[in-house]
Amino acid sequence: MNPVLIEVRDLEVRFPVRGKGFLNRGPVQEVRAVDGVSFDIRRAETVGLVGESGSGKTTVGRAILRAIDPTSGTVIYHGRQGDVDLAHADESALRDVRGKLQMVFREGGVPVHSLSGEALRLFRPRMSLVFQDPYSSLNPRMTVRDIIAEPLIAGGVMRDRAQIDARVREIAARCKLDLEHLRRFPHAFSGGQRQRICIARALVARPDFVVCDESVSALDVSIQAEIVNLLKDLQEEMGVAFLFIAHDLSVVAQMSHRVAVLYVGKFVEYAPTENLFFAPRHPYTHALLSAVPRADPDAVFDPIRLDGEIPSPLSAPSGCRFHTRCPFARDRCKTETPAWREIAPEHFVACHYAEEFDFSRPRAAA
Ligand code: SF4
Repeated sequence: MNPVLIEVRDLEVRFPVRGKGFLNRGPVQEVRAVDGVSFDIRRAETVGLVGESGSGKTTVGRAILRAIDPTSGTVIYHGRQGDVDLAHADESALRDVRGKLQMVFREGGVPVHSLSGEALRLFRPRMSLVFQDPYSSLNPRMTVRDIIAEPLIAGGVMRDRAQIDARVREIAARCKLDLEHLRRFPHAFSGGQRQRICIARALVARPDFVVCDESVSALDVSIQAEIVNLLKDLQEEMGVAFLFIAHDLSVVAQMSHRVAVLYVGKFVEYAPTENLFFAPRHPYTHALLSAVPRADPDAVFDPIRLDGEIPSPLSAPSGCRFHTRCPFARDRCKTETPAWREIAPEHFVACHYAEEFDFSRPRAAA
């Protein structure tokens, strides 16, 4: 089993919501977009993150990357320092950068949640993001070469043009981009090619961890499969870990080693992919899986259908947040928050009655 790369503990992200109208402008309420999320991501592992729209998936990913600041909780990075300093040919600059990096990369891991200023800037190349929309996430005025090179320059990873060009060509080839394309602009490419450019940009600084935020959702099914295979190949070659955020469970199953299920800002289940898909223990996971089209029309299992919308995190239900839609809810569920507990090795769930449920699915149905 690979060592832990990212350790997330009690992560909380709250946003103030201001009242409407001229006389009511102060913060009146707080939205708990992410509420006490804890999990680990190992080196070269893909963790899938699923849940309905508005459950907080994107916020979890961005809080780990420090694209938004967590309100509380910790994110510890146990990775290597990387090659940030190799680019600084100037000796005094090199000493300066090495000194700062030693302060950032210390024993016990990098406290990503509390980094700021120069330390955060130096750390940023270790983690990266692939956006959902390959059309709006590429600057139409930049060539593909400049787009891919941007993280190297902005993150201070490299300064020498020849080194940058060599690195861009290397990652473009790995991402199966024609080197001739590096001189062109994004409008000349299809959706799949654009997403490969986005992946090359995310991986050019050789990060250990990448968040793929609905990165295949906007693509045709055949292109989705191509991008998923590319990500798996790159993971094998480069040892990068992914947090793969998606609402399409069949894509998540193909891509992930473990899967976490999020509901109104809280994890309800986290397990190895096989366990989660064939023997889920939480009614919400079972409901999500019930909605996945089945390849075998004769497969028998007992699906449940969810009524109503996911509640707003502004007025999250008391007790178990799923009790307003759970067909198995009892009185206790309305008042008592279920504990996050390990009911089998590596299988975590938050439901008072998880041991009573048997949602096992025939393999052909998944
Ligand atoms: Fe349903 Fe109660 Fe379990 Fe929540 S704790 S999922 S409401 S049975």
